[in-house]
Amino acid sequence: MRETKCTIIEDFLPLYIEEVVSQDTKEMIEEHLQHCEKCQKEYETMKRNLYIPAENKAPIIQKINKKWRNKKMKISIISVLTTAFILFGVYAYVFGYETVIPYSKNLFKIEKQSDNNLVSHYYGKGYSGVHETFPMGLEIDGEKKIVSFIYYTKTIADSPSRKLFSNENNERGYISNLPESEKIDAVYYVDYDVEKIVAGKDSWDSILERAVLIWEK
Ligand SMILES: [Zn+2]
Repeated sequence: MRETKCTIIEDFLPLYIEEVVSQDTKEMIEEHLQHCEKCQKEYETMKRNLYIPAENKAPIIQKINKKWRNKKMKISIISVLTTAFILFGVYAYVFGYETVIPYSKNLFKIEKQSDNNLVSHYYGKGYSGVHETFPMGLEIDGEKKIVSFIYYTKTIADSPSRKLFSNENNERGYISNLPESEKIDAVYYVDYDVEKIVAGKDSWDSILERAVLIWEK
């Protein structure tokens, strides 16, 4: 009977040392320890091995907390960075990715002003850029003419900052001056890429073929 009880006491000893046993169990163990040398020895050994003084307990918990906090910090930094990258990508796409506005009679008009300068009107909601060439001499139907090419680009949405710089869209639309316009015989609307021309992959003559005549002297 006594042997059996010893094994039960041994089972409870770690909990007893950690002070997580009920009052009844505690009393039962203490009573047993008073008259059982074997269990007393076991208790002393266990106590030495298991017992963590209070002042040492705290740093361990702090360490664990710190480790966990670091891990949480890393996760939140990564997610903040990921979000920033995605937002930047979306921002660049929405406000930075330019596409050519296709020509439409209602959207564009070239007008000679009273000061003899040519201006281009754009009646759309907004644009991101206007691309114009300087006047250049090209042969059209066997005749040499001085022409300028023009096209507008838009982004998916206007960036808030661009609105501050653009001319106000009134009944005259957005107005843009054509460079050296006093020389111009004709203005064509067409999407062109100067880099392709420089690289020899395109020419002003072939650009002229796909261009839309929008103004003539
Ligand atoms: Zn015992």
